[in-house]
Amino acid sequence: LQDKLDKALHNISGRGKISEINVAETVKEIRRALVDADVNYKIAKDLTKRVQDKALGQNVLTSLTPGQLMTKIVHDELVELMGGTSEGINLSGKPSIILIAGLQGSGKTTFSGKLANFLKQKKNKKPLLVACDVYRPAAIQQLKILGEQVGIPVYTEEGALNPSSIAENAVKFAKENGNDVVIVDTAGRLAIDEQMMNEIKSVHYFIKPNETLFVVDSMTGQDAVNTAKAFNEALNFDGVVLTKLDGDTRGGAALTIRSVVEKPIKFISTGEKMEALDIFYPERMADRILGMGDVVSLVERAQEQFDEEEAKKLHKKIAKNEFGFDDFLKQINQLKKMGNMKDLMGMIPGVGKAIKDVDIQDDAFKHIEAMIHSMTPEERRRPSIINTQRKNRIARGAGRKIEDLNALMKQFDQMGKMMKMMQGPQGKQMMEMMSK
Ligand code: GDP
Ligand code: MG
Repeated sequence: LQDKLDKALHNISGRGKISEINVAETVKEIRRALVDADVNYKIAKDLTKRVQDKALGQNVLTSLTPGQLMTKIVHDELVELMGGTSEGINLSGKPSIILIAGLQGSGKTTFSGKLANFLKQKKNKKPLLVACDVYRPAAIQQLKILGEQVGIPVYTEEGALNPSSIAENAVKFAKENGNDVVIVDTAGRLAIDEQMMNEIKSVHYFIKPNETLFVVDSMTGQDAVNTAKAFNEALNFDGVVLTKLDGDTRGGAALTIRSVVEKPIKFISTGEKMEALDIFYPERMADRILGMGDVVSLVERAQEQFDEEEAKKLHKKIAKNEFGFDDFLKQINQLKKMGNMKDLMGMIPGVGKAIKDVDIQDDAFKHIEAMIHSMTPEERRRPSIINTQRKNRIARGAGRKIEDLNALMKQFDQMGKMMKMMQGPQGKQMMEMMSK
């Protein structure tokens, strides 16, 4: 990600101050990228508005390019939106009771196993897992297998039908057997459902958990937000577990859920293995959203648009025969900043790859610049007035031979012709062909 960032942001570098154009274009792209990363539109819009306000007019520290600064502002905003710091879970009860809620397939059972493993390994706890999914025998079996894998006992009741009473009995069992954490895995439905809600509310009421965690599949994008809302209304849960973040899911849902239910995300689940569990860190998620949502390439795209603006100006000049040595110099300066010539020729706005044929060597720039600097402003604007007498003066002033100046004039002339040609219908065709 760092590489990607550096690369993209490099392109927007070289401008000392963040200009209106830079900001407006970049902000638009950032918003698009955030929405692509599953961030809710309204949240993305509010966020980018704040970014815009912060970015405008900010002077760029010498160590930062404007693009880097923009990205940093976005990053910081994301972190803040996700709560700033990471929050642990409440293990104050004796035993501590943790209730796991969420839709079917969201990853509750898998997470229950992972959490038990985590608490045993990292917190020196003696957890008990409780199977409360009374509708699917396979679900109970699944938890038993996971428990065996991580060496954690699993409380089950054969044929019992009331999850609340199973959970209550399990707490009793835990007290008698020295388990200091009770993790209650529950049944989910495929969609929000009244019976499911009543059932989990009842379990919640009877066991009074110290911590209720809502498990949500990050791949469900915006739907995750509605589910979170419904569960929060029913249970007023304490935290969110975001699962299946191991694929190419964007993570933007994390941001949205956090903003909508105002509850912290506590864990992220990143795979089917029992070890694939991480504590949630807003900083890391911000990186992820920035990376996956391609905020990076958006800076690139914004940059292209910026160059297009410049190119349009240049096109106008060419069309009006106003392209002069000053513009030529500007182009050269832009090129020089970018480093390696051969690859970068194609980047000259309005010129494209066509001028690859024009032979301009790196070290030739020095002399070219010297000669252009020796010209008067009038000569730069209207090269046609440069006669032999003027040529002698210019060449002498730049410490070059008159042949060098002639070569430059010829090059400039060719470039002008080529650019003019490329603006015609033929040129358009040519450019299109070349850009394929
Ligand atoms: P439940 O119905 O909420 O209990 O969900 P399960 O724990 O049974 O998980 C449903 C499916 O998702 C299973 O196939 C799991 O192996 C899988 N799963 C759960 N968590 C993750 C995760 O973080 N990453 C991936 N790739 N798969 C997961
Ligand atoms: Mg399950």
